[in-house]
Amino acid sequence: CVLCSGAGLPGAVPSVSGEAAGGFCSAEEGSGSRFGETQSSQGESGDFLALDLGGTNFRVLHVRVVEEEQKMLKMDSQICAIPQEMMLGTGEQLFDHIAACLGDFLVSQDLKGHTLPLGFTFSFPCEQKEIDKSILIRWTKGFKCSGVEGEDVVKLLKEAIQRRGDYDIGSVAMVNDTVGTMMSCGYRDQSCEIGMIIGTGTNACYMEEMKNVKRVEGEAGRMCINTEWGGFGDDGSLRDILTEFDVVVDETSINPGVHTFEKMISGMYLGEIVRLVLVRLAKEKLLFKGQTSKDLLTPNTFQTKFISEIEEEDSGLENAQNILTKLGLKWDDVDSRVVRLVCDTISSRSARLCAAALATLANRIRVNRGLDHLKTTVGVDGTVYRKHPNKELQATVRLLAPKCDITFLVSEDGSGKGAAMVTAVAQRLALQSRL
Ligand code: BGC
Ligand code: MG
Repeated sequence: CVLCSGAGLPGAVPSVSGEAAGGFCSAEEGSGSRFGETQSSQGESGDFLALDLGGTNFRVLHVRVVEEEQKMLKMDSQICAIPQEMMLGTGEQLFDHIAACLGDFLVSQDLKGHTLPLGFTFSFPCEQKEIDKSILIRWTKGFKCSGVEGEDVVKLLKEAIQRRGDYDIGSVAMVNDTVGTMMSCGYRDQSCEIGMIIGTGTNACYMEEMKNVKRVEGEAGRMCINTEWGGFGDDGSLRDILTEFDVVVDETSINPGVHTFEKMISGMYLGEIVRLVLVRLAKEKLLFKGQTSKDLLTPNTFQTKFISEIEEEDSGLENAQNILTKLGLKWDDVDSRVVRLVCDTISSRSARLCAAALATLANRIRVNRGLDHLKTTVGVDGTVYRKHPNKELQATVRLLAPKCDITFLVSEDGSGKGAAMVTAVAQRLALQSRL
């Protein structure tokens, strides 16, 4: 097994490789004993910290790897809010905040004074130079902190911890959430070779043959490539299927012109697309007797979670009516049905686009291996995948990749456990190479 976290398009570098990843891997929610009571040695098994930045929440985790029992235990975790101003502030403020959250967590876990290795799930496009050196290419998903693009994120984290001076961390391993997701599913299903996220943002990674990875020396084995498929279309290749609503979403986003595909698919944008369609329909007098409301005219008031609520099979129409009322709209029965149709259309477009990209990856793996038929597993995570019906995604993949038999496996805390796994493997390999 070759394990690594890839870099942004168009290539990737292997960060960790070796046969080690297969070792420990059975996940279990832990309520294990506290650190300190049973902790004996630190090394390949032991306690790890994980940071997860780039999804709905910023989280800090304490994960224990018990290699003899092949277990990953999530000991505890904590969510730290990142205020909107901070997402748009300076990088220094952001990393000081992260370091402060981690500091508080260490105190609450009685871990202060222990120098633990840390897995950093940092879910943005990066050029990963080493396991502990990753340069942010650009922010996505509503983040826009100054002074971070082009910089090594691990360095910024370590500097923030040094500024505090009250605790220290051990070696750091950087992971993209897609890679953590694939890794955390890999223990349950050895044929998990794709990791996919459909959440605030969207992306996937997959196992590529080394011989096809031009940037990296060596022909043997495989490595994990982070595709950053959210950036698909940035060269104009999606122009033919962009709607006027997509154009507005892009123009009003904080990263216009980039991550085109992501803006048609992920949770950060779906609600806003629906809102724009509803405004247009109202203005054309096809909804709400031509009336809008202040709320409906305000960007981002139509939350993505409304879509899944409105799509619900039994209570969907009623949910739609409640939501429309809350948005200050006067609706009739037909209006609520039209709104439901709009939600269905936007979420089904998202699912189909995602399916097209996924089918391409699965087919590539199949052709790479000269197989007529491929059976493979996709590790998945993300709020949109978890909350929306996925029948359409799965049916479309079957249609577009008929020679691939794909199982979907929802990851159990891939960003935490996956990051800890990668950190553990990286640490073991580093130890081995020193011996
Ligand atoms: C980022 C990816 C990430 C994805 C899902 C995208 O915006 O560029 O690195 O994997 O979101 O979180
Ligand atoms: Mg995540």
